[in-house]
Order: sequence, then structure tokens, then C-alpha cells
Amino acid sequence: MTEANQSPINLFDMKAQQALIRPEIDRRIAAILDSGAFINGPDVRELEEKLAEFAGCGHAVGVSSGTDALQIAMMAEGIGRGDAVFLPAFTYTATAEVPLVLGATPVFVDVEPDSFNIDLEDLKRRIALVKEEGRLRPRAVVGVDLFGRPADWPAIQEICRAEGMFALDDAAQAFGAALDGKRLGQWGDAAALSFYPTKTLGCYGDGGAILTNDAGRAELYRSLRTHGEGKTRYAVERTGMNGRLDSLQAAILLCKLPLLEDELKSRARIAGWYAARLSGHVVVPGEQAGATSAWGLYSVLLPDASTRERVQATMRDRGVPSAIYYPKPLHHQPAYAAAHAEGLRAAPPLPVSEALCDRILALPMHPYLDKAQAARVAEALTAGL
Ligand SMILES: *Cc1c(COP(=O)(O)O)cnc(C)c1O
Repeated sequence: MTEANQSPINLFDMKAQQALIRPEIDRRIAAILDSGAFINGPDVRELEEKLAEFAGCGHAVGVSSGTDALQIAMMAEGIGRGDAVFLPAFTYTATAEVPLVLGATPVFVDVEPDSFNIDLEDLKRRIALVKEEGRLRPRAVVGVDLFGRPADWPAIQEICRAEGMFALDDAAQAFGAALDGKRLGQWGDAAALSFYPTKTLGCYGDGGAILTNDAGRAELYRSLRTHGEGKTRYAVERTGMNGRLDSLQAAILLCKLPLLEDELKSRARIAGWYAARLSGHVVVPGEQAGATSAWGLYSVLLPDASTRERVQATMRDRGVPSAIYYPKPLHHQPAYAAAHAEGLRAAPPLPVSEALCDRILALPMHPYLDKAQAARVAEALTAGL
């Protein structure tokens, strides 16, 4: 077989999935076009019920994006000026952007070299340093379940409880992941989901949700996403925002949600194929006792930046895409330089986050990748080493 005859490999693939559910999507969209219930229609409420059921949590509140999910969750706690929000330096920018937008100060915490998630010892150390410097109040920890792998939620919750802090799960890359048999959405005080198209559950535009077991918080989130409205539409109880999920996106998510359980199994199977072919050549994601990853992304570690460059070029030549999440730790981004300097005047270094940015490489990961394709990815990668 020549290269030209081989099926193309995509980093993500929304087409294969769409082919399975296209008639249902068309039917649901047509129903909304006929009804005219574009905002706050019955599809949004149905989706919220099904999301809560899937996650095993009390409440789900649909919102306009993962970023807005984080923002509404923090607004509900009154997080703002003078507050320190602890979050990993190795994550997507949205995690750090939100506290800054609210006037709070992100305090960057290093991550663990194997899980890529927030380092608990470093977290405790930085909370103590913030208290010592005495300028900011430690208010919240945002744990990110990076690449789909759950952070150490029992430990994060314990730290937050001891310090009277809010525990927010940025589960944007991890919907479907579980810890000790409990899905994300049951951990932390609230969890933020993103339905950006390439996430484990994605819509065809922007969308998100906040999951929580706390009925009071869920009610606040519903108010905040609709301009802080009270019991009636024109009672404005608090400063909110326009953060609603629209009915068309909810309808698309309702078509996709029934596939998710099997898709998560496929992702885990693909991760197994990669691990079998790549361990010994590169550092592959390790097992974590009690945790089930959602495999939102599959990232390996190469020895250094120049090897990574060579490997990416070899893969590209063989028609295999790859990507770098993330090329720079957040504390090195111009947008966060001032906040980083302000958060802790004597900030310890963040060596793990910095080193990972030079070595990390994401491979194609989507539920419709077959075993032969996974083998081609692994062959292309090892050929470049
Ligand atoms: C995607 C993502 C977000 C933001 O989600 P949007 O829906 O794009 O706003 C936040 N945090 C992390 C870790 C993400 O990967």
C-alpha cells in the first residue's frame, strides 16, 4: 500500500462522529427552527438534566463557553480585587485569564512531572507565602484536569477546606473522567466544562456548563448567566453577564451525549495502543491509581526541544499531525507577567512547567482513530527520534 492510499490521520476528527448522528442533528435543528425557542428553550433544560445524570452530580447549568463557566463560578464566590487564585502555570490561558478579568490575581503553581497536574507541595508552599507577604487573600484553587487526567481532588479539597478556599475544577479537557469511581462534577465545589468542538464532548460552536452538587450555587449560576436576574426577568439582583448556552448548541450536544460513554472507551483503547508501541522510546502517560482519564489529549515527553522539532518534522513528512500544548508556561506570557510579579514578590521558580513546554508533544487523539492509524503515528514518531 502506498502513502496515498492510506486513510488520512487527523489530530481531532469531528466528521466521522457527525456521519453517525447527522439525521438526528438535522431533525433537532429543524425542530428548533420551527419552534423559534433559540434561547433558554427546552433543549437547554433537557441537556442540563442529562449532563448532571452523566456526571452523577446534583446540578448542571449550561453557559456560553468554558471560559464563561470559570468566570460565572468565580463571580458567584465574589472573587475580585485583593484575592489570590492559585492555578497551574502549565495550562490553557483561559484558566488564568478569568481571575485577572475579575480583578483578582492569579498565583502560578508548578505541576507534577508525571501527571502534569498541580503540584500539591508547591501549592501549599505558595499559599503560605501569600499569607506571609500579607497583600492578598488566598481565595480559590483552580485544579485543571490536564489532557483529561483528573487532578488529585481529595487533596485539593482538603487544602481548600483547611484554608477556607473555593475549590474549582477546570474540567474543560476532561468531561467523563473519574476518580475513585466518581466522575468529575462530583469533585471540588464546582466544575467548569467546555464544549468547544475538539473537547471530549463538543458542540458546533462555543458552549460550556458548570456542574455542582450545591443547589444554592446552581441557582446563583443561573442568575449570573442571565445578567443577574432574580425571580422575574426584570428584577436585577446582582451584576451578571450574558453567559447563556443557546438552544441549537444544546440540541447538538443532546445528539452527541449518547455516544460519549463508548467514545471514552475508544479513547482509552487508543491510549493503550500508543503506550504499548511508544513506551521505552518516549515518556508516555503513566497509570494513576483510582483515576480514569478522559483522554482529551494524548501527550508524550521527548528528551528535549531539538528532538521534538525533528520528530515533528518527520511526522509531518509522513502525513501525521502533532501539536504542542503548551509551548510556553503562563508566567512567561506577556499578558501575565505583571500579575506574576504582583502575586508573589518572592515567587519560587516553576521549573517543571518550564521544562514540560520544551518536551511535550500531543499525538492524534479522537475516538475514531483505528489501530492501524495509531501504529502509523507511533512508527512516524519513533522514526524521527
Ligand atoms: C478549552 C479550555 C478552556 C476554555 O474553554 P472555552 O470553551 O474555549 O472557553 C478552559 N480551560 C482549559 C483547561 C481548556 O482546555
